[in-house]
Amino acid sequence: MAQKTALIVYAHQSPASFNAAARDVAMQELAAQGYRVLLSDLYAMDFRASATQDDIIGDLKTPGHFQYGDETMSAWKEGRLCADIVAEQRKVEEAELVIFQFPLYWFSVPAIMKGWMDRVLTQGFAFSLTNMYDNGVFKDKKAMLSFTTGAIQSMFKPDGINGDINVTLWPLQNGVLHFCGFQVLAPQIFWGPAHCPPAVRAAMLDGWRARVKGLSEERPLTFAPCDLFDLSFRGGFRLWPRAREERESQGFGITTGHHLGKPLPPDNQTRAHPDPRS
Ligand SMILES: Cc1cc2nc3c(=O)[nH]c(=O)nc-3n(C[C@H](O)[C@H](O)[C@H](O)COP(=O)(O)OP(=O)(O)OC[C@H]3O[C@@H](n4cnc5c(N)ncnc54)[C@H](O)[C@@H]3O)c2cc1C
Repeated sequence: MAQKTALIVYAHQSPASFNAAARDVAMQELAAQGYRVLLSDLYAMDFRASATQDDIIGDLKTPGHFQYGDETMSAWKEGRLCADIVAEQRKVEEAELVIFQFPLYWFSVPAIMKGWMDRVLTQGFAFSLTNMYDNGVFKDKKAMLSFTTGAIQSMFKPDGINGDINVTLWPLQNGVLHFCGFQVLAPQIFWGPAHCPPAVRAAMLDGWRARVKGLSEERPLTFAPCDLFDLSFRGGFRLWPRAREERESQGFGITTGHHLGKPLPPDNQTRAHPDPRS
């Protein structure tokens, strides 16, 4: 059987950090399962975060009005993307599983990791208007966020000061990962490791190790399938009327984002739904 490949996209400045420890646990555990593990250590690589015309080799299509999305799509088709983007795209192509390991910055990924997303997940390579969400380019791959917070868990409850973590996760998990087609595994959240005693931090890493052991058996999170929507500009890419009617009697929205003005389905972005067949 062909060897499986995992990619860890990692963003922390310090090898002594908790993030580095979480990265090492995943790398060791995946390697023990027989994975070939690729690592993109973004700060160590001095990975450039800004999406500029330096990413394109050769002449621009419209030099008078630089449009990053259009230019990178042409460059991708013509093999004119710069070397660091191409190297990362190769890793994504090879990987069945991509884990993003990072500290939560401003309710999101650190800028260097956002730059990786902006620059590596180019149009054509990672998505198109006909290949998105569950018809997405990476629909046979899995991806997950694994991150630390400064906040304690209760701060990210629906009644906590930061608001519901499910809402925080929606843009990254739906807008980036699922948009590109990835099956998104539930996030691994290390709540406030800096505020925990050493024994609790050790237990967090043990829990992560145990989770990585069983990762290939995990079901992905639930997102709204594309066939619920009229995927045309005329239809505005909105829910078909019959799909809306079918949901009228239900107590919750479809997903955190497609809430239809109803209460959010609990834990939609943090827990996979149980297998309906089991
Ligand atoms: C710009 C910015 C924006 C931020 N925005 C947010 C935000 O929106 N929301 C939020 O909640 N937080 C936010 N934070 C806080 C940030 O998320 C936390 O500081 C970060 O997640 C902590 O992770 P760390 O890896 O840096 O922890 P560290 O401080 O590196 O580690 C925590 C503790 O774990 C110890 N440790 C290291 N290795 C091990 C090991 N192997 N075993 C056991 N213990 C170990 C360390 O020594 C340390 O005591 C922000 C921070 C910055 C700088």
